[in-house]
Order: sequence, then structure tokens, then C-alpha cells
Amino acid sequence: MNAPKTADGYAILRNPRTNKGTAFTLEERRALGVEGLLPPMPSSLEHQVARILGELDQVEGDLNKYLILSDLQARNERLFYAVIMSDPATYMPIVYTPTVGEACQKFDHIFRAARGIYLPITAKGRVKELLSNWPVEDVRFIVVTDGERILGLGDLGVGGMGIPIGKLALYTACAGVPPEVCLPVTIDVGTENEELLDDPLYLGLRQRRVRDEEYHAFIDEFVRAAQDLFPRSCIQWEDFANRNAVPILERYRDAICTYNDDIQGTAAIALAGMYGALRITGGKLVDQRFLFLGAGSAATGIAELIAQAMVLEGLDIDEARQRTILFDVNGLVTANRDDIAPFQRPFAIQHEPIGTFVEAIRSLRPTGIIGVSTVPKLFDQTVIETMSELNERPIIFPYSNPTSRSECTAEEVYRWSKGKAVFASGSPFGPVEIEGERFVPGQGNNVYIFPAMGMAIYATEARRVTQEMFIVAAQAVAEQVREDHLAEGLIYPPQSEILDASLHVARRVAERIYDDGLASVPRPDDIATQIKAKAYQPSYQR
Ligand code: NAD
Repeated sequence: MNAPKTADGYAILRNPRTNKGTAFTLEERRALGVEGLLPPMPSSLEHQVARILGELDQVEGDLNKYLILSDLQARNERLFYAVIMSDPATYMPIVYTPTVGEACQKFDHIFRAARGIYLPITAKGRVKELLSNWPVEDVRFIVVTDGERILGLGDLGVGGMGIPIGKLALYTACAGVPPEVCLPVTIDVGTENEELLDDPLYLGLRQRRVRDEEYHAFIDEFVRAAQDLFPRSCIQWEDFANRNAVPILERYRDAICTYNDDIQGTAAIALAGMYGALRITGGKLVDQRFLFLGAGSAATGIAELIAQAMVLEGLDIDEARQRTILFDVNGLVTANRDDIAPFQRPFAIQHEPIGTFVEAIRSLRPTGIIGVSTVPKLFDQTVIETMSELNERPIIFPYSNPTSRSECTAEEVYRWSKGKAVFASGSPFGPVEIEGERFVPGQGNNVYIFPAMGMAIYATEARRVTQEMFIVAAQAVAEQVREDHLAEGLIYPPQSEILDASLHVARRVAERIYDDGLASVPRPDDIATQIKAKAYQPSYQR
């Protein structure tokens, strides 16, 4: 075989981090040895972006757009980020939810360039060896999944890898965490998904999920290896089933820099909604009483963060938890019920049993109701009218996803409350017009929280991730909602302004990290400037 001649230029073109594609100038082409390997006329980054946007416009279907962007990411990273950062509100749903869900489901049938690290349990005892195959030494941010609870789609096995990849793209695009410090990881302990196990193209281990001790020992090996190799990194757990997510977070949260976005980011965005709503209704968080429809992990996670935020306003934690009351499939969660799980117990109140949600509203007189039941239509006309009788401006948050499971629609709430309700939902609803008045519903989307949290941790090299950091993040999201948005009922910042919003949240969280002595770098005079200087920009000049 003919040995290749000096191939440096060719290698530069094949490396997504060094490749500028047609944007290499004539001088660069000559100096780097890529002259002749490209069409002769150089493009600017702006022209390259226009070319990709044009191509995306031509293509039908979001999955096809996802594939174009995914190929671009593997070819020219700066161009990839320039494209998605040119219009984040449009491209976030393509590189992440909902499109990424379909990409994960079809992972084995659309697989292209490999990205990230796969850790199969068959490599038990050699995790460090596999992780050290990653070509970057200074990894700061790891998003890891075991693929068991991917979005609302369940166990997708090794196909879950789309989630850490997509989520890390948002850390970069929405808050500027540099892509070179990010590492997507998928832990493959098997799958219970029969379709995957029967699919000859399935790329993961063809075995049932390993559970319990063996599972946790493997997670432990991963954490130790990651700490050894990347001591300055933060581990973000993503889309684990509750049975593992909660114990994993409990095990590591006080030991290393780590968090779970499904649990903590989700609670923070709900709390941000509360702070946003209070800017419309007036009053303090500590004066509110919330009644949750649903008492699962979402309800208790949000309730706990709200309670902790109330503690910062002067209540003690037990008093605060009595203001975040749960109602589940068996009725009001009261102390004398014998079917209460330990994680629900702190929120159980002394009260006679109540079997219907409306009765609970009448008796407890909440200022806000939060739907996390996964059951559609439970916030019916009587519920909304009762809340509106009791409150000048009732807070109504149907947070169940997807849209088909929402406890009510935006239109129903505005109509039944005669425009009085302050509304936010888990799934998106379009603007609503009632008797000539326009209302813009907000969507509680973690994307306002996790990229900013990542940026703050990266900039400060935080040693731990605390609940207070999430409370500050929630406050920082809410304080950015402009008066003109509030006037239309919108209590979250618009997604089109996500980068500015995230940099603000990152600054506020970083301040907290420095204040609490959790940073590993000295506090700069100007934290905003530090964050800005560290934020990635998709430019060929850097
Ligand atoms: P889960 O299954 O753990 O809990 C569901 C709870 O609802 C249970 O306590 C159950 O008893 C209760 N429930 C079921 N039917 C009921 C009924 N008829 N009346 C009263 N209560 C009933 O689910 P989860 O993980 O807590 O998630 C709940 C929902 O919240 C999901 O749809 C999820 O997508 C959504 N969620 C949204 C956000 C957001 O910010 N948008 C955040 C977290 C969760």
C-alpha cells in the first residue's frame, strides 16, 4: 500500500474542532496544507451559516434536520454552534427535546459518527481504562445516563446516548460552557426493552438490566474513575429511573461536585415560576400555600425546594413543608394515612381525610395549585373557579407532560378564571385571546436552569452543588422577566434570549458559590466579566 504523504492538512479538515471547512482563508490553506482540498473560493462563517440554514429549510421532518445538525457537529463544531446559536428557540427542540427522543428511539438505525464514551458493565474493573481513551485531559462536565428513563419514552438502552450529547450541546449553546470540556457518557447495564433486545441492529448489550449491588458497584467504579482522571469535573446524572436516581444523588451529592437535573433542575424551574408569578400577584413566597395534585417524585422534589426557599425567608423547615401540601390518587396526604412513603412523610399534614381535590382546595385555601399527576383534565372548571373565588390572582401550574397529560389547557384556565389566573405549564401552549385580551403562557423548561448551572460550576470550579444554588438560579430566572412579558402573563424569559438569560443566572449562581466558599478559583473583582470571558463563542478567531 502507498504510504500517505504528510497528511496534516487533511487531518485538520477531518477534526471537527480544527476544521473551518470552506472558511479557511487562502493564506491558511497554504500554511496548513489544505490548499486544493477545498473548492477555491473561501466562505465567511456567516455564509456557511446561511448555507446550512438554507439546507435545513429544504428538508422535511425534524429528525432529518437533527441528522444534518448531528453530521455538522461531527464535521465542524464551531459552525454547528454558530447555526444553533443563531436561533436557539428554533434549534433547541431539534438538537434536544422533543426531536432527540425520536433520535434515541431510532439510535441503532441511524447511527453515524460515534461521540462520547460508552461504559458497558462487561468492562467492570476497566472503567478507568475506557474513560482514559477520551482524547481530552481537562474534562469539566460529564453528563451521564444509563438509558433507563429517557424523557417520557422509558428504557431505550444504549440509545439513551442521544440525551447526554444533546443536553451538552445546550450547555454550550445556551450558556457558553466550552464544548471541549464536555463529555457525554452512557452506562450500559442492559435493557428491559424487548423490542431492542429483539432488534438485530441493537448496539447495546443484549442482556437484562443489572440491578442492585452490582449496579451500584459499577456506578461507584465510574465515579471513582471519573474523579481520578478528571478531578475538576462535575457529574450530571440524566434520565435515570427514580429507583436509581434518588439513591445515586443521595450517595454522591455531599461527596463530589454533582447534581441530577431531572430532580433538582426541574424543581428549580418550578420555583422560578413561583417567583415569576409572585411578581404578578404580589406577596412573598413565605405567605403562599401550595397544593400539589400528585405526590410522586416531581411533586416532592418541587415541594422540598419551595420549602427550602421559604426557610431562607424565615420559616423553619417543618412549618415550610406544611405549606407545600400533597394530594394523591388516594386523597389528601395526611399524617394519619398508612400508605405514605418515607419521601412523602415530611409533607403530610394533620388534617381529617379529604377525598376530592376541590374539597381540599376549599378546606386548605391554597394560593397556588401545581399539577404533577400525569392525569389530564383533573384541573376542571370547578377547580379553576374555586381557586378564582378564593384568590384575586390564583396560581395555576399544570406541569404534567406531555401536552396530552396536562391537567388543563392554557385556554381553559384563562377562560374559567376570567383572565385572573397566573398560568405556567410543563408542555408548551400557544398564546390565548379572551375577550380581546392576549395571554402568553409560560413553559417551565429546565433549559433556563441547567446550562447556567453548568457555566457557574465551570467558571468557579465549584466543589459541590447545593440546594441554595438552585434557589438562587430560580430567583435569577424570575428577575429577568420583563414588565411587558408580565403584562401578558408570561412568567419566564423568552427562549429567544436564552444566552443572555443564562449568563445572568450563571453570574448569580457563581456569586453564591464564591460566597459559600465552594469555589476552587479566587473570586474575581467582576464575576460577570469572568463568566463572559470564559463563555464559548462560535468564532474562527478563537
Ligand atoms: P409519578 O408517577 O411519580 O407521580 C404521579 C403522582 O400522581 C402520584 O403521587 C399519584 O398518586 C398521583 N396521581 C395519579 N392519579 C391521580 C389522580 N387521579 N388524582 C390525584 N393524584 C393522582 O410521576 P412524577 O415523576 O412525579 O411526574 C409527574 C408529572 O410531572 C409527569 O407528567 C412529568 O412529566 C411532570 N413533570 C413536569 C415538570 C415540569 O417542570 N414541567 C417537572 C417534573 C415533572
